[in-house]
Amino acid sequence: MKKIMYSSTNGHPELLDFKGALLRGQAPDKGLYVPEEIPRISKEELASFSEMAYPEIALSVMRPYLGDLVPEDDLVAILKDAYDFPVPLEKVYDEKYVMRLDRGPTFSFKDFAARLMGRLMQYFLKQEGRSMVILTATSGDTGSAVAHAFYDLDNIEVVVLFPEKEVTGRQRKQMTTLGKNVHVMAVDGKFDDCQAMVKQAFVDPDFAELNLSSANSINVGRLIPQSIYYFYAWSRTAAPDREIVFSVPCGNFGNVMAGLIAMRMGLPVRRFVIATNENDEFPKFMETGDYRPIRPSVKCISNAMNVGHPSNLARVFWLYEGSMDENGNVKRNPDIEAMRREIYAVCVTDAETRKTISDAYNRYDTLLEPHGAVGWAGLARYLKEVEDWSPCVSLETADPAKFPEEVVRAVGLEPPVPEAMARLDDMDERFDLVAGDYQSFKSQLTKLFS
Ligand SMILES: *Cc1c(COP(=O)(O)O)cnc(C)c1O
Repeated sequence: MKKIMYSSTNGHPELLDFKGALLRGQAPDKGLYVPEEIPRISKEELASFSEMAYPEIALSVMRPYLGDLVPEDDLVAILKDAYDFPVPLEKVYDEKYVMRLDRGPTFSFKDFAARLMGRLMQYFLKQEGRSMVILTATSGDTGSAVAHAFYDLDNIEVVVLFPEKEVTGRQRKQMTTLGKNVHVMAVDGKFDDCQAMVKQAFVDPDFAELNLSSANSINVGRLIPQSIYYFYAWSRTAAPDREIVFSVPCGNFGNVMAGLIAMRMGLPVRRFVIATNENDEFPKFMETGDYRPIRPSVKCISNAMNVGHPSNLARVFWLYEGSMDENGNVKRNPDIEAMRREIYAVCVTDAETRKTISDAYNRYDTLLEPHGAVGWAGLARYLKEVEDWSPCVSLETADPAKFPEEVVRAVGLEPPVPEAMARLDDMDERFDLVAGDYQSFKSQLTKLFS
């Protein structure tokens, strides 16, 4: 099988295979890894997806990226183990659907990417006889998705830092009730302090032999697995001969980037709606051709999307023949006309988000939380402006029970709490308290691994 190689969006000459890029994370020149070539899935193979279960579709999508790095039997087992939860496509009206990506162990769509990345990392580390320490700072959801994804895997230890006073009780419990190879530190500080300590640890020569890795959202191993559910959605709503419209609530743009890759692989997509909250640097760029990051980012109720400069924009630009460095400087303009043909970008305010949660529930009995509501509002805007009769799928990225205040406020009803989430309330927690300075963190980390 032909081997796809991965290169940096900043142009570093070294090419790596999937395993190399996965274990490296970020390229040495701070660029993001992208596949040198995007594999195509034939029409015949696409047509067969409607008969396949999720892990089988996943096999068809992932196989060309991995080449022969993972033998097929092993890959089948990994995919079955990673994707053992439902992916409902809920019909809202006519051919308009909400895809619920919130049924994984942490009730976040981030489970899809993190679970496969964790399993592939474990697979390759075992092969190499190596071990790794995943060090990650979280403002809430990423940490729990990563902690769960790596929980109980061999050859991998996980250390999660979170700002003690800035996460909800349930978000905290999703991390602190795991134990085993998951170590959690509550930092007396803000998210930015956690992030700074993690960054410093990565360049600290005293930790060189720990083999620290960030497993963060820019890892190519987290990007590609997100393409799978776009194929799945199409196979359940539009296959075999129709184009589909996706609406994606966007923060760091990893989710929609994976969708754009799916389209380049041959998935029949009419249009992507990119819906942001009031951090509207991308919709503004699409309108004016001028890119200006928003610093600091605006605090909106869809808080996982409060991103003033999406890291994956560098990949989106690359896809459209442009170039952007890690700080958001545009080195070469992308083909913006091509982008406008394929992407419809909208900004959704908090007021509109709240109204959308209320309308979706009152008109269609569809319960959304703020992130999914941004997506649904974006789709409504698109349909108002563009006459399009394609099946439409809007992505719901978290369970409404994670945002009870906003749901109660909009619809006057407590969102039902999934059993696994409710169970957390009675479970024992374990975590260390750490002062907000690097030395305190360093001594904790040293103690942990000595
Ligand atoms: C992370 C996240 C997003 C944003 O996804 P990106 O891939 O960063 O664009 C949207 N919704 C929820 C609930 C998230 O946790």
